[in-house]
Amino acid sequence: MTVTNPATLPAATILGYPRIGPDRELKRALEAHWKDPARHPASTVVDTLGALRERTTLRLRELGLGAEHAIPSEGFAVDHVLDTALALGAVPARFTADGYSPAAPDTPEGIGLLTALSRGTDRLEPLEMTKWFDTNYHYYVPEIGPDTPLSAHPESLVARYLDTLRRTGVRTRPVLVGPVTLLLLSRPETTDDAPVDPLGRLEDVVGLYVRILSELAAAGVQWVQLDEPALAADGWAVERTEIVAAVESAYRRLTFPADRPAALVTVGYGDAGGDALLALARTDAEALAVDLDRGDVPGAEALRAWGERPVVAGVVGGRTVWRTDLAGATDTLDRLRAAARGPVAVGTATPLLHVPHDVTQETGLDPDVRSWVAFADQKVTEVVELARGVEHGWEAITQTLETDARIRAARAAHPATHRPEVRERTAAVRGEDRVRASAVERRAAQHERLRLPLLPTTTIGSFPQTTEIRATRAAHRAGRLDDAAYTEAIRREIARTVRAQEELGLDVLVHGEPERNDMVQYFAEALDGFATTRHGWVQSYGSRCTRPSILFGDVSRPAPITVDWTGYAASLTDRPVKGMLTGPVTILAWSFVRDDAPAAEVADQVALALRDEITDLEAAGTAVVQVDEPALRELLPLREADRPAYLEWSVGSFRLATGAAATDTQIHTHLCYSEFETVLDAIEGLDADVTTLEASRSGSGIVDGLAAADFPRDVGPGVWDIHSPRVPTFEEVAGRVRHAAHAIGADRVWVNPDCGLKTRAWPETRAALDRLVAAAVTVRGELARADRDGQGNDAARAVPPGTAPAGAAATR
Ligand code: GLN
Ligand code: ZN
Repeated sequence: MTVTNPATLPAATILGYPRIGPDRELKRALEAHWKDPARHPASTVVDTLGALRERTTLRLRELGLGAEHAIPSEGFAVDHVLDTALALGAVPARFTADGYSPAAPDTPEGIGLLTALSRGTDRLEPLEMTKWFDTNYHYYVPEIGPDTPLSAHPESLVARYLDTLRRTGVRTRPVLVGPVTLLLLSRPETTDDAPVDPLGRLEDVVGLYVRILSELAAAGVQWVQLDEPALAADGWAVERTEIVAAVESAYRRLTFPADRPAALVTVGYGDAGGDALLALARTDAEALAVDLDRGDVPGAEALRAWGERPVVAGVVGGRTVWRTDLAGATDTLDRLRAAARGPVAVGTATPLLHVPHDVTQETGLDPDVRSWVAFADQKVTEVVELARGVEHGWEAITQTLETDARIRAARAAHPATHRPEVRERTAAVRGEDRVRASAVERRAAQHERLRLPLLPTTTIGSFPQTTEIRATRAAHRAGRLDDAAYTEAIRREIARTVRAQEELGLDVLVHGEPERNDMVQYFAEALDGFATTRHGWVQSYGSRCTRPSILFGDVSRPAPITVDWTGYAASLTDRPVKGMLTGPVTILAWSFVRDDAPAAEVADQVALALRDEITDLEAAGTAVVQVDEPALRELLPLREADRPAYLEWSVGSFRLATGAAATDTQIHTHLCYSEFETVLDAIEGLDADVTTLEASRSGSGIVDGLAAADFPRDVGPGVWDIHSPRVPTFEEVAGRVRHAAHAIGADRVWVNPDCGLKTRAWPETRAALDRLVAAAVTVRGELARADRDGQGNDAARAVPPGTAPAGAAATR
């Protein structure tokens, strides 16, 4: 083994910490810069990153991570995957052609590059964004193809380390996404060519890591952290054996040179697998971190092979807000210590970016619930306490263990966690409660009732959340605005949104969701069994944060939730107004869900509440209801073997929620991701009448996939990427509509944006929707002409006999 420096790994560490800042200072700095770069130049973002890194380091030291190298050196402006991609100089050709060149991320040029890559520019589409493993964090997909020029840019990694050392005196541990995971998460720049081997650039990339590590060593860095979570997941385009072989060759080469920091290789987000551990054992990596929250204690063979090198035991989960079962953790640690030959350190199972900062700030939270919860700072304390136990014996932490046991017992006995009337109702659910009339009958009945044109246009639900709306909600919440004035203000906004949609010529309208702070929190606040937080923000992507609710008890609906607002919108127009609900899977996925009841039971409790809501909407005259399930894919287990059980309860709960809808009520669902292939059967299983999907960032892939799969229901593949402020051109939108109509069949296609518009501003919303409607009208016209002229099979497929295709004017 090439022991290059004698630094030992500390007894307690974490794999990462929330990055937006306790006061969301990074979010503010980024958004101020994006909004007004003249007043807030890129240097203000760089300054904020430095100050935040200092604040984080001091806080973590105060919480007990005092030892050298215990604290990761993070502070990524936009995304850690993008950060590593920039360290490798991976800038797609369309950006270099437009004048961008590789730059280290924490420089004004680097911030400019990150901004362009993540948000796009007037001329350039941004990088695709997708879920980070089975979490609600989204990373930007690096584009690395066979010809992408790559170059090492370690400057920011070095500068962060030195700057934090200077500010705090603490030697931190730089973090990079490991080479194998980085390449597996990347995609080629263009997809037109023959399929490329995702690991094809491994040699080049590892060469750059070697250079980066050598620069870090030269700056005095003694430990570096390389994250390889891809090892815990299935479903890559490359065989597992090839991935494991790639890990071995990459890390052999990476750890061979003498001039490098010691390498801590981490496998978070699930079980690393014995094959991967054996491969890593054959390299000179100095330490290994495993996820023992979701994964198992490594087997004897792997531990034997690993020898006397340290293992960081990730016994404190980084994914949920519940206190760690400390007694369980001591058992796990004992088992690992009995089998391991080297030292065992205590760590988190994943970085802590998925949980908020500090629960002691939540003074408004019910004290019982608060006592059950651990945010990032509390988890750090758990790590530190367990490490103390490892070092001095469990007797040294007796009091901590006793307190934990007492709190767990109190939680189990709390009446809110077990309500007989709720349990009885879910127990009484029968199979037929999850089944609607046949799709054929529904289609005919809905056609009769709605009389929509071909290629109907709609939106996904929310409209721009202006400063004024936010201020209105805040004032109401704070008691400065009474209920009547609040209702009046929200109604004004609904009226404005309905008017705008009529002016734009959309076919199926929405009320715009101005009353909703967040699509899950809004329902969580209205349902029993949930608690909401004030400061519990977690990063979703870039500067965007969400504040997940805490689902702690049995769920029920004390009163109708959306009926008044939807009804008001419907009273203002003759066009159908779509009722808007968040589905059970998404409510679970975007909340911190209880760990003391099976997900299937909890999901059915939520589903029954939504079922009652749909019944109430129908009674008020609503003909179209959308039940959003953007998170269906995200909860999909990483391991193939765990998937069927998940799909059964998730799809089942959606069907329970929608199963009482009348035959002529059109149920829409909406999904926000582009890798839908893996869950296509599940999407079919939802049995929604219309499914809208995010599609515009991924080229024609989704549409072709849907066509190839012969997806049997109506679909609306998004034609406007709403994650960036860029307004697509008419030709882009029309091209997408045309392609979808021809590939899927015009009688099955809806025209809509990728997702809700709450993060957009009105001017771009109007401009883009105007083009969207114009594109639908134009393509309808083309199809009608083709049909009249009797041209070609395409048109025949696109316009089935009996459908009257026409431009918008002709249909009304
Ligand atoms: N109806 C929601 C909205 O438009 C859906 C958002 C989402 O899919 N994330 O905001
Ligand atoms: Zn969406």
